[in-house]
Amino acid sequence: MERGKALVVFSGGQDSTTCLAKAIKEYGRENVSCITFFYGQRHSLEVEVAKKIAADFGIADHKVIQMDWYNQITTNSLLDPNLEIARAEASKCPNTVVDGRNMLFFTVAAVYAKSRGIRDIITGVCETDFSGYPDCRDVFVKSCNVTLNLAMDTTFRLVTPLMDLTKAETWALADRLGVLEYVEKNTLTCYNGVVGAGCGKCPSCLLRNRGLAEYRQTLKSPLENS
Ligand code: ZN
Repeated sequence: MERGKALVVFSGGQDSTTCLAKAIKEYGRENVSCITFFYGQRHSLEVEVAKKIAADFGIADHKVIQMDWYNQITTNSLLDPNLEIARAEASKCPNTVVDGRNMLFFTVAAVYAKSRGIRDIITGVCETDFSGYPDCRDVFVKSCNVTLNLAMDTTFRLVTPLMDLTKAETWALADRLGVLEYVEKNTLTCYNGVVGAGCGKCPSCLLRNRGLAEYRQTLKSPLENS
């Protein structure tokens, strides 16, 4: 396995696009692959957006995996267009949680990575803002990493550059990487399938736009802030 190659679990959203830009900087474009999962999410547009972004970044190896059987074994508001997306109540998971999603994604990604001789698997999961998602927690990712190594007798590294960052800090990272404007205009995080700034109303948009506003506030001079 080569240390110098990486596979980005890539959705075409703000977080994974920032991870992709970071990976390209650290590993070199030719050493970065992407994998995207189509799992019957509300907006298949997500896959098209991911394809476009990977192409814009010059990624030659972009694998799209069909997992459209997912809604045969579970459902939630991302998979079922009849369910309304509800905000998380205190101490309860938001109803956008897809049970086992990251477990499945990381497993499939690891099998693909191994077949390509890739050791590092990069994911934009983050527990700071999304505390309601159990499989975005650092403890889960670390546990999954150990399990994958045991399962395939290898030395994967699940890399989580955004794990401890707030949304504002993720925007700051995109800015340092020189892709803030690109991320702002071209990525898709909105649950209602609106690219860029999004619908502005769904929980994902609120989080994203609040983070951006917060980051922009830090750029203002102390005089303006006072
Ligand atoms: Zn939205």
